[in-house]
Amino acid sequence: MTDVTREIVVDLDALRHNIDMLSARVAPAEVMVVVKNDAYGHGLLDVATTSVQAGVTWIGALDVPTALTLRRGGITPPTRIFAWLIDPEEDLAPAIAAGIDLGISTVPQLETAAASTDAAAARIHLKIDTGLHRNGATAEDWPRLVERARELEQRGVVEIVAIWTHIAEASDDEDTQSIRRFEAAVDAARGLGVRAPVRHLAASAAAYARSDARFDLVRLGAFVYGLPPGDGPSAEDMGLRQAMTLRARVTTVESAPDGRRRASIDLGYADGISTFAPGRIDVAIHGRRRPLISPLEVDRAWIGLDGDTDVSVGDVVTLWGDGSAGEPTLQQWGDATSTMSEELVVRLSPSIPRRIV
Ligand SMILES: *Cc1c(COP(=O)(O)O)cnc(C)c1O
Repeated sequence: MTDVTREIVVDLDALRHNIDMLSARVAPAEVMVVVKNDAYGHGLLDVATTSVQAGVTWIGALDVPTALTLRRGGITPPTRIFAWLIDPEEDLAPAIAAGIDLGISTVPQLETAAASTDAAAARIHLKIDTGLHRNGATAEDWPRLVERARELEQRGVVEIVAIWTHIAEASDDEDTQSIRRFEAAVDAARGLGVRAPVRHLAASAAAYARSDARFDLVRLGAFVYGLPPGDGPSAEDMGLRQAMTLRARVTTVESAPDGRRRASIDLGYADGISTFAPGRIDVAIHGRRRPLISPLEVDRAWIGLDGDTDVSVGDVVTLWGDGSAGEPTLQQWGDATSTMSEELVVRLSPSIPRRIV
């Protein structure tokens, strides 16, 4: 840390390591790195650029504005950018002109995409709902969506690049059912003359665990950042490295009203620190664990020092990291505060300086 009182450090080596490991594990399926929510708080363009340099061919943007930001930021073809959250009022022409791949769930969306093409055909991925009920055509609506897409493809205004779905990844049985429904939808589409060379279904958990979920492409968010789910194996056990460290400098050391020694840092609930954290999590100072204690203030947190007389203003507190400085990991934070580690990182305030190493 230099002269800042708090910082997020993003380790691009860890990101590259995770991408390499996961790419090897899911091969021959390709990897899409998902960069929604400012790359899970790690920085959109830094993560996307690092991913492309590491050989990733697909970036998952979530929405069209983010996809266009990526194109403007230098993520150019042949890298594919996928956007699947489409506002009904959205003008799709700029996205299609920029060669953005669009996730399409309904006939009206399809018509809008087709009507927004200019020179090149709109690249579309048709989405079937396989049980999650988060967008996606129902099995009943699927043939109509596919047939209309096929007509528009024959007219040269759309190109059906892929068939895809999103699954719950909550239980193996449910996922197996989703995989079966997906395969049936692919067969139905192929029966209607659709080539759709790419099939994609899995996010991190299923892509990591199940070869039958990988198909041609997997969409990886959490694991790329080294964030495994709670109550399971650690990132280290899975061969992943957590990319983000959150640190702050001690700004005051004093005796609390009850006489006990405490130190403050300039990170509070407005910065995204969970109000469940005090009393449930220990942070690291000089490699030693010290508890976060109440009260958590809007812009400040307190650390109990107990008998530790060795802590002074300016000392570095590591809230979370890969554990190498004695600090808890994000998985441990998630478990302690009954949240997901992804939630902890996406809630961090953009006002916290971010340093890329
Ligand atoms: C967020 C998201 C992913 C990535 O999920 P992780 O569990 O973080 O890997 C994949 N696909 C879709 C559609 C998503 O919204």
